[in-house]
Amino acid sequence: MADAAGRPIDALLREERRFAPPESFRARAHVRDESVYEEAERDPEGFWARWAEELEWFQKWDRVLEWNPPHARWFLGGKLNASVNCVDRHIRGPRRNKAAIIWEGEPGDTRTLTYYDLYREVNKFASVLKGLGVKKGDRVTIYLPMIPELPIAMLACARIGAPHSVVFAGFSPQALASRMEDAGSRFLVTSDGFYRRGKVVPLKAQADEALKLLAGKQDVEAVVVVRRTGHEVPFTPGRDRWWHELMEQAERLCPPEAMDAEDMLFMMYTSGTTGRPKGIVHTTGGYLTGVYATTKWVFDLQEDDVYWCMADIGWITGHSYIVYGPLANGATVVMYEGAPDWPDKDRPWVIIEKYGITIFYTAPTAIRAFAADGPEYPRRHDLSSLRLLGSVGEPINPEAWMWYHEHIGGGRCPIVDTWWQTETGAIMITPLPGVTVTKPGSATRPFPGIKAAVLDDQGNPVPPGQGGGYLAILRPWPSMLRGIWGDEERYVNTYWSKWGRDVYYPGDGAKIDEDGYFWVLGRVDDVMNVAGHRLSTMEIESALVSHPAVAEAAVIAAPHPVKGQVPVGFVILEAGRQGGPELEAELKEHVAKVISPIARPDRVLFVPDLPKTRSGKIMRRLLRDIVEGRQLGDTTTLRDPDVPEQLRQMYASQP
Ligand code: ATP
Ligand code: MG
Repeated sequence: MADAAGRPIDALLREERRFAPPESFRARAHVRDESVYEEAERDPEGFWARWAEELEWFQKWDRVLEWNPPHARWFLGGKLNASVNCVDRHIRGPRRNKAAIIWEGEPGDTRTLTYYDLYREVNKFASVLKGLGVKKGDRVTIYLPMIPELPIAMLACARIGAPHSVVFAGFSPQALASRMEDAGSRFLVTSDGFYRRGKVVPLKAQADEALKLLAGKQDVEAVVVVRRTGHEVPFTPGRDRWWHELMEQAERLCPPEAMDAEDMLFMMYTSGTTGRPKGIVHTTGGYLTGVYATTKWVFDLQEDDVYWCMADIGWITGHSYIVYGPLANGATVVMYEGAPDWPDKDRPWVIIEKYGITIFYTAPTAIRAFAADGPEYPRRHDLSSLRLLGSVGEPINPEAWMWYHEHIGGGRCPIVDTWWQTETGAIMITPLPGVTVTKPGSATRPFPGIKAAVLDDQGNPVPPGQGGGYLAILRPWPSMLRGIWGDEERYVNTYWSKWGRDVYYPGDGAKIDEDGYFWVLGRVDDVMNVAGHRLSTMEIESALVSHPAVAEAAVIAAPHPVKGQVPVGFVILEAGRQGGPELEAELKEHVAKVISPIARPDRVLFVPDLPKTRSGKIMRRLLRDIVEGRQLGDTTTLRDPDVPEQLRQMYASQP
């Protein structure tokens, strides 16, 4: 696998730009100097225990960690409830009438829930669930759009100890059915529909379809339906109930269940970028500790911040950084129902201006789309309330980072590029915005208490500045996954078998530079082998994106008789640019110049769209299927199922 020097991935892209935290930011930040890293390193368990102490426990733990690789248990013997930590404890003090959730629907309707409102709603819905027969340990599937009832339902589940399984509302009936079946879930919470690009999406009809697919495979006892759009929906008597009717009759208070720290809080399926989605299991005490700590330090969350994470709660990012992390911190969270380009491409900037948002967290795919739309959209709005920006989901190309910094952050906001996964539960590699000098494209350093490394195939560290290898996590952390639901073997094989049972293998490539900064090079599956060089697709993509004509790029390897593999680029051009042989030659030359002649793409195709997951990640494996003439792999989490077929035809017709 490795090249002659024993390095699994060549890392060729150089980035010299540096950005220090502005003094005004540092002056009021939670973390102002680097001593936190050494402190955590001296005693990682003590470090996490101090964070856990900031949560509210019914009963304190006896032991911080029990590590029987690859199984960890955190805060043994401790008892707590996540809804108490996210809601109850805030209503006893000055946060009682602070806005917890400021919600905006796509049509422009709004709702604000204070912590006290949230308390009442969560209690009532917890009573509703109990009344329907939901017991501690039962998995409740939640198939809801981005409306306040979604976090309310999650916290209500947490209150009674019923793990939730949130299925993204953009998913098909088939995807919902297979997740309900996999989870053995007998309860479903959904809505009549929701708004997307001005139209009503008939969610209840889709749910009904999923329930039909489940007939004979999985009993479903009750379906609770939120009225969001008000359109007529089919109702199955005895099984389906309206949320608002149940809430009217519900007991006002529902005492929280004292959950064991290791009791399951929820399960969540991965995005499916690399294959069949995995049902990742998270537990209560460790997860909450991890998201609480990282929200506070990574986003430097202060009492007066207005925080907006643009992800959908149907992804782990929404679980950890819309619901559990921010609410455990008593933050004001903005939540938006609809499409970012509706009714116009400036909707996010309208929202930031309207609510005075101070912290904004989104994904590189969105940033590249904003950049392609042009800076005139943000320029129309007053974004001066912003003080911190975040990125998650994919490596951020340095040019996209620069655009974000300049056009959204006005040159003054630190950017936190946060590397983590569904499996890690919380952010793992990230700047701390008050102390870290950032470099565009680097997630910088492991969060205090996290021990990460870049290893080669044998498990030896790749020395800093020496090229790429595999990212590895060398010690357990509180919010780590506890398993894959119902599949112990896949858990051990996927994550704990590359080097040994005690080293976590995330499946991403990375390098460490001379300053000890981590650069995530994308998925190991996406690394290509060109004439003996192991190249990361991500670096070639970043080189393409740094050309002014290119908005987005995906690079994969195509088989080649001499070189083994050659890079092929699929490129979306900036609005108004025209593809052709001349531009193709120019782009190839550009990559050769920016990275190296060995990375020069063999072909560059100009395409209207790329295959992406519903969470916006590029699915390179489908592009590989196309160029290698294979049948397409799992496409259930694809955003637009027509794209691969379109690209297949283009690829075949352009010699
Ligand atoms: P599946 O595991 O089913 O293939 P997935 O890996 O896309 O899906 P997620 O857990 O949503 O599911 O994504 C985690 C992955 O996203 C990481 O392993 C990494 O490849 C990528 N990622 C997330 N944040 C960053 C980041 N800041 N920089 C680089 N890559 C990132
Ligand atoms: Mg993954």
